[in-house]
Amino acid sequence: MIRDLHNKLIGKEITATQLAEQYFDVIEEKDGEIGAYLTLTRELALAQAKLVDEKIAQGEEINLLAGIPGAIKDLILVEGVRATAGSKILDNYVAPYDATVIRKLKENGAIILGKTNQDEFAMGSSTETSAYQLTKNPVDTTRVPGGSSGGSAAAVAAGEAVWSLGTDTGGSIRQPASFCGVVGLKPTYGRVSRFGAMAMASSLDQIGPFTKTVEDAAIVLSALAGQDPLDATSAQSGDKKYEDFLTGDIAGKIIGVPKEYVENLEGEILEIFQKSVEKFKTLGAKIETISLPHSQYALPVYYILMTSEVSSNLAKFDGIKFGLRISELENELKANQESELGRNENLPKSSKNLLETYLDTRKIGFGDEIKRRIMLGTYALSAGYYDAYYLKAQKVRALIRRDFEKAYEKVDLIYCPTSPEVAFKFGEKSEDPIKMYLSDIFTISVNLAGLPAISFPIGRVVKEGNPPAGGLPVGGQLIGQWFDEEGILNAAHTFEINQ
Ligand code: GLN
Repeated sequence: MIRDLHNKLIGKEITATQLAEQYFDVIEEKDGEIGAYLTLTRELALAQAKLVDEKIAQGEEINLLAGIPGAIKDLILVEGVRATAGSKILDNYVAPYDATVIRKLKENGAIILGKTNQDEFAMGSSTETSAYQLTKNPVDTTRVPGGSSGGSAAAVAAGEAVWSLGTDTGGSIRQPASFCGVVGLKPTYGRVSRFGAMAMASSLDQIGPFTKTVEDAAIVLSALAGQDPLDATSAQSGDKKYEDFLTGDIAGKIIGVPKEYVENLEGEILEIFQKSVEKFKTLGAKIETISLPHSQYALPVYYILMTSEVSSNLAKFDGIKFGLRISELENELKANQESELGRNENLPKSSKNLLETYLDTRKIGFGDEIKRRIMLGTYALSAGYYDAYYLKAQKVRALIRRDFEKAYEKVDLIYCPTSPEVAFKFGEKSEDPIKMYLSDIFTISVNLAGLPAISFPIGRVVKEGNPPAGGLPVGGQLIGQWFDEEGILNAAHTFEINQ
């Protein structure tokens, strides 16, 4: 899709400005219902498009992504544009600088249409924890788009953007890609700079693209990837054009299917998955059953480590530096009243007000899921529990990583479904956190181990659970060795072009 649009741009069949306008028309027509976008950046988009059009007019060569319109998950900073991360606490926050990925996209000439809805601070699997709006799954608007990057997945699925960016801490790119029937790529930890993306859990977070095709995901990754002095965890992995590795040939590749994952499957999803395994065989791959014995601990380990990092990362939202500050005035009034009544005379007024400002801002600014996680994380890190929970979880994380190291001694790639389920209905899980957490059972180990993984459409559920006409999308997940994005992209691409 990106390549076709690029050819139209350089063939002067369409200008970048017209293309951007076309996408704003689609957004205008559809987004009232879908709710993918929180903010539109029309001025920025048209200014970027104009630059690309000038280049084309002057006969300059343009990059593949130049002039191609996309959307950005709200927690990624775009200079001068509101960035709420789906939270009331950042309701009035405007980003003071560009995230590294945004700087790179701009340098590539990519067009930014707007910022997309998400679960609050990326915590959730349905985008229902956003403080602003629901995002509907374009395949069936009675269902969630997945999460936390639900707005980005829905924007691409609805044709309201060619590509979009999400972040993936435990599945937030792959699971919504699977639910909306698009491609979602979580790069290796360190492949893409996290500078300028609001951190949820810094040892797990990674930025990656949503697209309609695997080739498009490769093209966007080429723009995003690379070492960045502003992110100490970004790796020196060298610049590559990932799209050049899509040979369409996977003959002889050994693909491991983890038995622990398949045991959890049933019904039509199992059938679709088995069919896809057969297809990999007909494409020349060798399938082997493997074991990832510590998989059962991934979810509890994730919910200890992630919440610990969340409790630390979100401490900065205290009403002083960023965004919302709750009723200083009221607090001052209250303090004055109290001192008039002769109370608190000996307390320094300002420090009392500061504490109340912290407490009130966080009480009113954060939603329930955020508070739940901050409390869990603070508990896990507290003296006396640190060894029993945090340290123990770090040790089990090492075992989970070792499972993958062992598996990759025998196989080139690992393959499983992205999620044990298809898109569910609004409200179906939002009252039961554990049910919601289980949605990411197949994606979380990948983040704990820091591996790259891609979700791509492998079929649709057409019978079970009252699906809409055309069915509900199921995603397959290919997990690669560290820094082997080429391998998973090529295998998914080969699958896709042989539909
Ligand atoms: N759904 C998972 C969670 O709620 C993953 C979120 C993410 O990857 N940002 O933590």
